[in-house]
Amino acid sequence: MRVLVVEDERKVAKALREGLEAEHYEVRVASTGEDGFFLLNHEPFDVVVLDLMLPRRDGIEILTTLRKQGRETPVLILTAKDTVEDRVHGLDSGADDYLVKPFAFPELLARVRALARRGRAEPVTKLGVGDLALDLMTRRVVRAGQTLELTLKEFEVLEYLLRHAGRVVSREMLARDVWRVTARATPLDNVIDVTIARLRRKIDDPFDTKLLHTVRGIGYIVRSEPG
Ligand code: CA
Repeated sequence: MRVLVVEDERKVAKALREGLEAEHYEVRVASTGEDGFFLLNHEPFDVVVLDLMLPRRDGIEILTTLRKQGRETPVLILTAKDTVEDRVHGLDSGADDYLVKPFAFPELLARVRALARRGRAEPVTKLGVGDLALDLMTRRVVRAGQTLELTLKEFEVLEYLLRHAGRVVSREMLARDVWRVTARATPLDNVIDVTIARLRRKIDDPFDTKLLHTVRGIGYIVRSEPG
């Protein structure tokens, strides 16, 4: 478990490093916002302990940039500003938790442990709707106990539809995210429709309840209820 501590107050930074290392975390300390941001962009971390009042780049700015990049590393903010607005602002900016200075060390450790556990949550490996199940690890698709043989593309399309189960998936989305083609063209639309038709033949035709539905003029939706 690697923890990044971004804190400009030397005493606090030192205490954090020692306390976290005693708990067997690997700790890196940055004493400016700039350094913290640099480390975040160059090394992997499981948890970030982030002071808000920092020289050169404040904590909120770092946090906002991190989240804009789509990175979900758990962040615990430290704030001396004990006002409701500051806390709300921190959480709105994408912090997972906060502590108000001065804080009790055991409490900080408990919060870091909780965030580290959350960050390590198992990624989703199984998707499904109704009696249809798709296993991302074994690449197996089973419906009502029957294993279905899908081509790679059919599998990818089904995975995508299941990740968006209950929501309409347009041909544009399939073109962009499954075929990874940004410029849409009629031939690609035809390929998408043919793939969907083949997929439907395998996952729906032998069964009474249909899961893959066409939304006319828009795209497709996977759901267990008819309609
Ligand atoms: Ca500070």
